[in-house]
Amino acid sequence: MRILISGASVSGPVLAYWLARYGFDVTVVERAATLRKAGGHAVDLFRPAVRIADKMGVLPLLEARNTGTEWLSIRREGSDRARELAIGKLMTAISDQHIEIMRDDLSEVFYDATLGDVEYFFDDSIAALRDHSGGVDVTFENRPAREFDLVIGADGLHSNVRRLVFGPESGFTTWIGAYLAVISMPNYLGLRGRMEGVVGVNRMAAVYGDGRLDDARGLFMFRPAKELDYHHRDVARQKELLREHFDGLGWEVPELLALVDTAPTFYFDSVTQLRMDTWSRGRVSLVGDAGYCPGPAVGGSTSLAIVGAYVLAGELAAAGGDHTRAFPAYERALGDYVRRSRTFAVGAAKRLIPGSRGELAAMMAGIRLFGYLPTPIARVVSKLGGGGLRLHDDVTVAEYAPARRESQL
Ligand SMILES: Cc1cc2nc3c(=O)[nH]c(=O)nc-3n(C[C@H](O)[C@H](O)[C@H](O)COP(=O)(O)OP(=O)(O)OC[C@H]3O[C@@H](n4cnc5c(N)ncnc54)[C@H](O)[C@@H]3O)c2cc1C
Repeated sequence: MRILISGASVSGPVLAYWLARYGFDVTVVERAATLRKAGGHAVDLFRPAVRIADKMGVLPLLEARNTGTEWLSIRREGSDRARELAIGKLMTAISDQHIEIMRDDLSEVFYDATLGDVEYFFDDSIAALRDHSGGVDVTFENRPAREFDLVIGADGLHSNVRRLVFGPESGFTTWIGAYLAVISMPNYLGLRGRMEGVVGVNRMAAVYGDGRLDDARGLFMFRPAKELDYHHRDVARQKELLREHFDGLGWEVPELLALVDTAPTFYFDSVTQLRMDTWSRGRVSLVGDAGYCPGPAVGGSTSLAIVGAYVLAGELAAAGGDHTRAFPAYERALGDYVRRSRTFAVGAAKRLIPGSRGELAAMMAGIRLFGYLPTPIARVVSKLGGGGLRLHDDVTVAEYAPARRESQL
């Protein structure tokens, strides 16, 4: 049975790995010319995702690439005095198993685990899909057309497959009140396992570096009063918006804004949540950010993407490839986790950027207090509430039967 996956970042290779293990014949099409190796940004794996990586036999490789951000040093706008937050301790409180890793490292490890079992088409994209009773006719931009039994979109928040099958993105996305920009930049602050930053009302800027990276990442998050009007390809306007919103924040921000102009990589997007009631139609389904992104950088979407890919493959194998049973079972199994991630992300977008002087003062006091808590107490506090901080660790993921051979599918 032939399955086409669009997207080779995180959810795509994890899904490909498990489908190939279950005996499906898997092809992945990726728009980029090669696997991205620019580093991207740091992402988080919490307990269920770490366990899936362990089942894939790649956990030691991920642990070896852990970015190891242990400390956050943050000051409030107008103050030179920084508060120190032990991120390592916070993460121990939130999750019993947590790995922070650069997205491109994660992607490479998962991709390598599929080599030999999965066919990859780089530098290509699906141009059209025709779903009919016997399969899906797929037209590619650069290759001859082919027929597949199923097609899965693992092509991120701005998914091509979703657009082709479900219609324009605007029908499913909700702005959850923030904007996010990331630049790669020289590590002139010499940060190793540290993040340093400044926070003001409705805005925060930070830099993080890690011993394994040659450079550092500059991060900007801000919350304007209303949604901004700009074109997603108009980089000059996006840089101008950053300058407008970060003027006068102090600390290293003038230097960071100067670096924005020469940054080798620049990312700017709204923190947008995808809300679809169903993410499967006919012989097509979606996985990861393409189907249920709770919001980049605020909802633990990488863990959700890994769990989603594992569950989808498991349900397809359990149903012997019958998508009419597997897709609804996949959506049922994941639905609660997706809904809770959405709620969590909306809260996190608010908590990360204080909206008033009172909230800013409360945030700094919280950081100070947390520093005094011994790790076991911090863990208890996070279990007691904390806005569902242990959301990801609390998720239960079904065990799927061991791999079968193709002849059974
Ligand atoms: C700035 C930023 C910070 C983030 N921080 C965090 C964090 O701290 N913690 C966390 O857990 N998550 C974070 N995330 C989210 C995380 O990166 C995603 O949740 C995760 O990468 C989702 O994986 P995915 O494979 O579903 O999609 P993506 O990683 O978005 O990958 C989609 C893939 O599809 C490919 N593609 C796109 N269009 C096409 C097409 N037409 N044809 C073929 N291929 C295509 C892309 O090139 C890419 O390889 C952050 C995201 C951003 C942008």
